[in-house]
Amino acid sequence: MSYQIKKAAVIGSGVMGSGIAAHLANSGIATYLLDIVPSEVQPADAAKGWTKETPAFRSSIAAGALQKLLKQKPAPLTAKKNLALITPGNLEDDLEKLSEVDWVIEVIVENLEVKQQLFARIDNVVKAETIVTSNTSGISIEAMLDGRSESFKTHFLGTHFFNPPRYLKLLEVIPASTTKPEVVEFMKSFGEDVLGKGVVLAKDTPNFIANRIGTYGLLVTLREMQKRGFSVGEVDSVTGPVIGRPKSATFRTLDVVGLDTFLHVAKNVYDQTSGEEQEVFNPPAFLKQMVENKWLGAKSGQGFFVKK
Ligand code: NAD
Repeated sequence: MSYQIKKAAVIGSGVMGSGIAAHLANSGIATYLLDIVPSEVQPADAAKGWTKETPAFRSSIAAGALQKLLKQKPAPLTAKKNLALITPGNLEDDLEKLSEVDWVIEVIVENLEVKQQLFARIDNVVKAETIVTSNTSGISIEAMLDGRSESFKTHFLGTHFFNPPRYLKLLEVIPASTTKPEVVEFMKSFGEDVLGKGVVLAKDTPNFIANRIGTYGLLVTLREMQKRGFSVGEVDSVTGPVIGRPKSATFRTLDVVGLDTFLHVAKNVYDQTSGEEQEVFNPPAFLKQMVENKWLGAKSGQGFFVKK
C-alpha cells in the first residue's frame, strides 16, 4: 500500500501541538487541532455570553492556541495565511473528524495512562490505514499499544519533534516492534521531503536519543550549579549566545520546554533505571517546588524568568 498525507489531526494544542500544527500548515497540510473542553467557564467567557454548551467555548483551548501562534517569536508560521489551514476543535464534539484524516499526531500531557486512554478513543474512529504517532519525549512506544487493534499496531510509531517545531530540524522516528516497515519508510521520507526535517531513527528506549542525553546534561548542570553556587544568570550567560546558541541552553530552554514537561521527561528515565544513574534523573527539589507553584515557564508567564 502506498501512503500519503493530505489531511492531519494534531491532538493537544499546548507548546508543541500548536507549533506542530503550524509546521504542518506551513507544509500545505490541512490540519485539525483538537484539545479538551475547558472544565470551567471563566468570568471573561461568561461576559461574552458563553456557557458550557457554546461551541466557541468548547473549542476555546485550541482556538486560543491559534491566536497565540500569531504573536509568538520566533514566528511559528511562515505566513499568516497558513493559519486558515488549521481548524480548531475539541475531542468531545469532533472525535469523528479523525475518520477523515491520514495522520493523527498525539501531543498531550507526558503521561502513559492518559495517552493510552486517548489512543483507545482514536482506535475506534480512524481508518485502518491512518498513521497514528505520538510526540512523546521518551515514554515507551510499545507500552502505548496495549489493548489496541491490529491495524492500529501496524500503523503506529513515535514522531518526536523538537521545540520550536518550525526551527529545529531534528525529528526522531521511533518504530514499535509491530510497525509495518512501509509505514516507517513512509514517515522517514515524509519527514524529510515534505516537513523538511532531518530524520533519525531511534530505538524505543527511555527518552530515545536526544532527550536521554539532553535531560542528563540539564540535570547535571542544575546539580553543579547548586553545589558550586553559580547563579541562573551566570549559567545562562555561558551556555547562550556567547557559545553560538540563539538562546541559553539551560534556564531559558527549560522555560521554553515547560518545567512540568521537563519533570515528566526526567521521570521517564528515573522510573526505568537504578542506582547512580537513577539519581542523576531525580530532579532537584527546587524544580518540583516551582512546578507546584505553577511556575511552569513561558506558557504560564513565569518560570526562571518572568515573561514580558
Ligand atoms: P503542554 O502542557 O504545553 O500541552 C499539553 C496540551 O494537551 C494542553 O493544551 C492540554 O489541555 C492538552 N491535553 C491534556 N490532556 C489531554 C487529553 N486527555 N486529551 C486532549 N488534550 C489533552 O505540553 P507540551 O509541552 O506541548 O507537550 C506535549 C507532548 O509533547 C508531551 O508528550 C511532551 O513530552 C512532548 N514534547 C514536549 C516538548 C517541549 O519542549 N515542551 C518537546 C518535545 C516533545
